[in-house]
Amino acid sequence: MSITKILILGAGPCGLGAAYRLQKLGHTNWQIFEREAHVGGLSASFRDDNGFTWDVGGHVLFSHYDYFDKAVTGALGNEYYEHQRESWVRILQRWVPYPFQNNVRYLPDDALSECVFGLRQLSGAPENTSNFREWMDTVFGAGIVKYFMEPYNSKVWGVQLNTLSKDWIAERVSVVDLARIEKNIAEQCDDLSWGANNTFRFPKRGGTGAIYEGIASRFRNRIYLNQEMLSVDPKTKHVRFANGKVESYDLLINTTPIDNFVRSFVSSPDAIVSAADSLIHNSGLIVGVGIEETFNDSKCWMYFPEDNCPFYRVTNFHNYSPFNVPEGNIRRYSSLMCETTYSTHKPEIKATIIDKTIQGLVNSGMLAESQIEHIVSRYLIDIPYSYPVPTLGRDGALSLIQTYLESKDIYSRGRFGAWKYEVGNMDHSFMQGVEVVERLLNGTEEKVYNSR
Ligand SMILES: Cc1cc2nc3c(=O)[nH]c(=O)nc-3n(C[C@H](O)[C@H](O)[C@H](O)COP(=O)(O)OP(=O)(O)OC[C@H]3O[C@@H](n4cnc5c(N)ncnc54)[C@H](O)[C@@H]3O)c2cc1C
Repeated sequence: MSITKILILGAGPCGLGAAYRLQKLGHTNWQIFEREAHVGGLSASFRDDNGFTWDVGGHVLFSHYDYFDKAVTGALGNEYYEHQRESWVRILQRWVPYPFQNNVRYLPDDALSECVFGLRQLSGAPENTSNFREWMDTVFGAGIVKYFMEPYNSKVWGVQLNTLSKDWIAERVSVVDLARIEKNIAEQCDDLSWGANNTFRFPKRGGTGAIYEGIASRFRNRIYLNQEMLSVDPKTKHVRFANGKVESYDLLINTTPIDNFVRSFVSSPDAIVSAADSLIHNSGLIVGVGIEETFNDSKCWMYFPEDNCPFYRVTNFHNYSPFNVPEGNIRRYSSLMCETTYSTHKPEIKATIIDKTIQGLVNSGMLAESQIEHIVSRYLIDIPYSYPVPTLGRDGALSLIQTYLESKDIYSRGRFGAWKYEVGNMDHSFMQGVEVVERLLNGTEEKVYNSR
């Protein structure tokens, strides 16, 4: 009896999750093909010529799954640090602890009054709203929307907020408890506890990418790097690569962006191609700024809603591991990782983003003008696919595409393979890979991919 041949496209967390499970289950006929010269996808890390290590934007491990945690432990052993999550919002020339809405007491009086007034005026049921913009108004009120929710989300998503659905929200956006906020104001107390996890692990060396290098080391001989998939023939079940290689498959697990993947088909129905064309994503520019100076600042990452800087988030990356800076010497160096979105709706010029970012660091009070001369490294990463945008029409389009793909023995999973932002983090993506293999080999139901 021949053994089912499974091909995996993409060696990011999802493809590696699938591979990890295939290996654990003892399946013997499978391979991964990856376009880049390295594994890890968006979760890879890079060392620049000056000795700084950078992630593709601030990556924090908020695992929801024991299975993933064990895979990470297997990859890192004891070679990691554990950090207390600490995030802040930079606004009106001051720092407000995150979540913003619980800590509005830090705002100047007039802004604080606007936020509280907006909350007291709330009416209408969030469940009756029809998009993310309306949902924000109903949940947060005019003041918080004006100062934080609207400008911050516009910067991150790079699309009009009324084109986003509200269905992805779940734990992604901390909602509001008026009594709790009023108590925080009255008692002058900080309210920092929110979210899935308050601590996170970070690899000692090699950035976030070290996790995936470690996982991939279990099955290196099955990973084929520098293999860019060019086209797929779902009828004959063949994949063609840019170098001319052609591979056959029985089952195909795709983790590359589903829109391009569908467009790469030798032929597919027009309705499927137009569904793929309707999917929206944004892009990102990550600027790493390495500085020969010490920053005594315990913050992990910071949100920037205002328009005095291009970025929406900055990570104090030197705080995650001393080995993120040259010589492991955080008494001498620091590193700031700054993330800016670009899209057709929100263009950014790649050639000027480094200078604009550094000016933004000065404008927002992160750097003094005099510290610019201590910058010793400027590193740019362009991410063509950064966030899969949960638009209003997304679920209809995905359902059409995925039904078609499955009828052809193709399973598309992961951040852009499944295009579901709400389950598009590293742990989700890895588990989507694990679970699709479980389904294919053992008939088990996929939970993460199907969850809401
Ligand atoms: C700015 C930013 C910040 C993030 N922060 C966090 C965070 O704090 N915490 C968290 O858990 N997650 C975070 N994420 C999400 C995390 O990066 C993803 O969850 C994860 O990398 C998705 O894994 P994946 O395998 O599904 O996709 P990817 O990582 O995108 O991997 C897909 C792989 O497919 C390959 N590929 C693409 N096209 C082809 C082709 N034609 N042929 C062959 N191979 C191809 C790619 O090179 C890539 O290696 C963040 C992402 C971004 C962009």
